[in-house]
Amino acid sequence: MTGRVHLVEHPLILHKLTLMRCKDTSTSKFRALLEEIAMLMGYEVTRDLPTELVEIETPLATTRAPMVAGKKVVVISVLRAGGGMLDGIVKILPAARIGHIGLYRDPKTLEPVEYYFKVPQHMDTRQVILVDPMLATGNSIVAAVTRIKAAGARSIKFVCLLAAPEGIRRLQEAHPDVDIYTPAIDERLDDHGYIVPGLGDAGDRLFGTK
Ligand code: URA
Repeated sequence: MTGRVHLVEHPLILHKLTLMRCKDTSTSKFRALLEEIAMLMGYEVTRDLPTELVEIETPLATTRAPMVAGKKVVVISVLRAGGGMLDGIVKILPAARIGHIGLYRDPKTLEPVEYYFKVPQHMDTRQVILVDPMLATGNSIVAAVTRIKAAGARSIKFVCLLAAPEGIRRLQEAHPDVDIYTPAIDERLDDHGYIVPGLGDAGDRLFGTK
């Protein structure tokens, strides 16, 4: 089994993504667009959440109507750029629990090293939505998924803004049970691991650090 790639090519998402790619788009606009796209992606990634019928009273009658079933979803952000997607997703999942994972790349081994990890309890019964804007080499997402599984998670979906073919392959090989949701798959990675044509460094553009 290989994780499916869900190409979410909604016209509004693609329009907003094009604005984000433009090098002259301001930090504030970039931030707002990422939040808007994350909210729209949130709609798609939650499409198959289980529901159950509950009894309610309308002003006219008692009836049974569907509500989302089970433990609260957990949205996990990969620091730091994943933070730019959290608010958007949580807008449509206001009761979601939130987790964070921080990884940096060891300059000697080039392996991802964890520096922060905090997730809610009962991970085994929650749907995990992992967010990070750029799926480039895939190394950090593979490490993040491995760590989240070690914390007990059994169902993980990954949502990004842009993916490189290399990153998709790497994630599918390492974690074939994880579905990937992305609005676009770009051409390739450059020698520095940036997605081409891409949009540059998502963290720097989001936080205005360059
Ligand atoms: N991370 C980014 O922020 N941008 C890329 O193009 C690749 C990884």
